Amino acid sequence: MNQLSVYYIVIYAFMFVFGVCVGSFLNVCIYRLPLGESLTKKNSHCMTCGEEIKRYDLIPIISWCILRGKCRHCGARISPRYTVVEFLNGAIWLVTALYFDIVALPMYIILTCLMFSALIVVFFMDWDTQLINTWVVVFIGVLAVAEIILCRDYDSASISSHIIGAFVVSVPLAIVTLLSHEKAMGWGDVFLMIAAGLYLGIQGALVALAVALVTGSIGGLTQKHFSGSSKFAFGPYLSIGIVVAVFFAEQLGDWYMQFTGLNEMLNESV
Ligand SMILES: [Zn+2]
Repeated sequence: MNQLSVYYIVIYAFMFVFGVCVGSFLNVCIYRLPLGESLTKKNSHCMTCGEEIKRYDLIPIISWCILRGKCRHCGARISPRYTVVEFLNGAIWLVTALYFDIVALPMYIILTCLMFSALIVVFFMDWDTQLINTWVVVFIGVLAVAEIILCRDYDSASISSHIIGAFVVSVPLAIVTLLSHEKAMGWGDVFLMIAAGLYLGIQGALVALAVALVTGSIGGLTQKHFSGSSKFAFGPYLSIGIVVAVFFAEQLGDWYMQFTGLNEMLNESV
């Protein structure tokens, strides 16, 4: 094995392990932000008996497996979701590092990983509370501005595409929100698509919406079938759409043009 491949393996291993550790912090955000609790001050405690969790029982994924998903103090079941969130963040960071050229695009990879982490928080928080935290959306907006400034050299979307991207989906969503009196859509969804649209550009924002509508219809119907309620959060599906758009916006856009014959129509009219 040559030195270069060792170097890559170390980077990829780091991306996964560090991603899992950040995933642990995302759990703290998911549970404490809706309650308005401090993210840093209080130590983690068991949700059932309130016992503070010892430092050696706070190792992401591993502790949960060793304790077989139970509190060491009272034996109450600890939700596997903590571990799922940790693994999910590690996995998505690793996939992002593998998918994009880590030598040419280090800054883009870092910013994109951070946005994916914020989207994991949006996904679970919105699922639980049907609210999207404003600070998480502001964080995505800051990442978008950083992406526009720092990743100019290899960004296929122009600055104007980024700016229009902020409005191309959020404005229609805002109209739906107003007309439906916030029943079909919430302002959180609108603000999320301003920030994420700014990050993605026009094509990415449209692909994110299309994916959200398809997965949201399927997910919404499934939820209605099982719970009988037609009330469901749209943020989780927008989050899925945004992640898919980062990886496949161009391919999906081209496929759609081919599939519908739009590309031929456009070629003929030119
Ligand atoms: Zn306990």
